[in-house]
Amino acid sequence: MSARCASLAAASDPRPEESPVSDKGWNYRTVIEPFRIKMVEAIPILSASERRAALDRAGHNLFRLDAREVTIDLLTDSGTGALSAEQWAAMMVGDETYAGSRSFHRLEAVVRRVIGHPHFFPVHQGRAAERILARTMLSPGQVVLNNTHFDTTRANVEQAGALAEDLPVAAAAVPEDESAFKGDMDLAALDEALARHGERVALVMLTLTNNAAGGQPVSMANVEAVSARCRAAGVPFFLDAARFAENAWFIHTREPAYASWSVADIARRLFDLADGCTLSAKKDGISHIGGLLTTRDPALAERFRNELILGEGFPTYGGLAGRDLEAVAVGLEEALDPDYLRYRARTVAYLAEGLLAVGVPVVRPPGGHAVYLDAGRLLPHIPKDAFPGQALATALYVEGGVRGVEVGSFMFPAARLQLVRLALPRRSYTQAHVDYVIEVAARVQARAGDLRGYRITEEPPFLRHFSASLAPLG
Ligand SMILES: *Cc1c(COP(=O)(O)O)cnc(C)c1O
Repeated sequence: MSARCASLAAASDPRPEESPVSDKGWNYRTVIEPFRIKMVEAIPILSASERRAALDRAGHNLFRLDAREVTIDLLTDSGTGALSAEQWAAMMVGDETYAGSRSFHRLEAVVRRVIGHPHFFPVHQGRAAERILARTMLSPGQVVLNNTHFDTTRANVEQAGALAEDLPVAAAAVPEDESAFKGDMDLAALDEALARHGERVALVMLTLTNNAAGGQPVSMANVEAVSARCRAAGVPFFLDAARFAENAWFIHTREPAYASWSVADIARRLFDLADGCTLSAKKDGISHIGGLLTTRDPALAERFRNELILGEGFPTYGGLAGRDLEAVAVGLEEALDPDYLRYRARTVAYLAEGLLAVGVPVVRPPGGHAVYLDAGRLLPHIPKDAFPGQALATALYVEGGVRGVEVGSFMFPAARLQLVRLALPRRSYTQAHVDYVIEVAARVQARAGDLRGYRITEEPPFLRHFSASLAPLG
């Protein structure tokens, strides 16, 4: 335990989030998990030959592994977090009344406090909010501007016949760049796009944190600047707020003007600057399912309501059970707890530092929910079209049963970077699990030169990474 505690200590060159910034003045170098474990779930531990057999059966595609074949599952942080005792207790009093349930009103009170937009609708998950937004606000030929569209947001915008244009800052594409807010929107590019598309711009969005760009945060200064430009141009400005609390934490720790603000006040200011939001409660709602759609505009709310009834259900439950509304209500506030956020950011940074220390290059600085391993740099002998990210991801699985996901040319044929994402489910794994992942990665790193690339043997017509089969080369 003592070795682990020592290794838990902040690195010699602490980033701001490792310094004592708690509202309660946390002044220990060891950042502890701010919870104890009340219920456990056994995790499968397989032999190397069992893992190799599982990988063969899955066509070397980690999405096709079963839960019983995975030891540490870092495939996604979406809907995979551990609920708190408070959430389970709230779920037991969930009100399953069809219209006007108590659970809706409980969630409404939380949304009023945390987000503050006057009209809100629960939905079954984030993409349902995006679909309603796209179907009510967009028509063919219009344009949506975003720091970087998440893939479901892009798909919904394109389904409506509109153009989804990404305007990330240049630093977002440079893994070594240590800038604090690599999730920002490029303001000069925004000005240019607003001028170029004119009236066709139907909506501007900011994704907090910028998931597709490595979970990198957006600064308050950037949100303010984008908000002001939208107001001047008369264009609605929405947040894709899936990780609003993690983003607020990074503002608290990295943007000096907000060091003395509470995380909840920072989050509220983010929402104050926007006209509405979509939100996946599977992320910073710390729930297994759920989402939200909000707006300030009563006329738009009426259109949202009509579209929601078509696909999600009555507006006071929106595709969710009453108990889910309760879990989201409690989770949204728990996600803003600075003790939780400090631990969460520290866990991600600790994994990133540990990987770097054993010679595995990662995207810097560590983001809010995941660490991205730079397979292109670790495996320079494997060309892009032989999927170095997939080679690294499968090696981590065979070595230690760790499941991540390739985010490179297997997932996106045009990808420039060849990455493997290790996403951390909320409150689910301990520091020993993270130490184990680092040890597994160190062993893979030691034989990196022996790893071979892949070819695809069978692929579906779209979104191939979910179901394609691969075979190792040579
Ligand atoms: C997960 C996610 C979504 C979609 O939410 P779901 O609940 O998975 O439908 C949208 N935007 C971002 C940034 C996300 O991370």
